[in-house]
Amino acid sequence: MHEYSLIEALVTRVEAEARKRNALAVHKLSVRVGELSGVDPELFQTAYETFRAGTICADAPLTLTRVAASWSCPRCKTPIARGAILRCPACDAPGKLDDGSDALTLDGIEMEVP
Ligand SMILES: [Zn+2]
Repeated sequence: MHEYSLIEALVTRVEAEARKRNALAVHKLSVRVGELSGVDPELFQTAYETFRAGTICADAPLTLTRVAASWSCPRCKTPIARGAILRCPACDAPGKLDDGSDALTLDGIEMEVP
C-alpha cells in the first residue's frame, strides 16, 4: 500500500534526524497532508500506528494537519478562488497550485535531546 511506503520513508527520516541530534526518544511528530497529495489521512494514520512499534517513533503520537488545496498567481500573489478559472483576476497570469497543496510535509519532530 502507498501509505505504508510513505510511513517507512517518514520513520527513516525521523530516525536519521534523531541520530544526528543524539536524541534519546521521539515524543511527537507532526505532518501536513496536502489535499492533492494523494494520501488518505486515515490510512496514513492507521499505517503509522502499525508501523511505529519497535521504531524510535514507538511512543510518538502523530498529528496530521490537512492542508486544503489553494491556488494563487505566481506573479502578483493574488489568491485564486476555488473552482474559478485558473487565471489571475488581477493580471491574467496563469494560476499556480500553492506549495503544500499536493505534498506530504514533515512539519515537526519533538525529541528528547540529552
Ligand atoms: Zn496576478
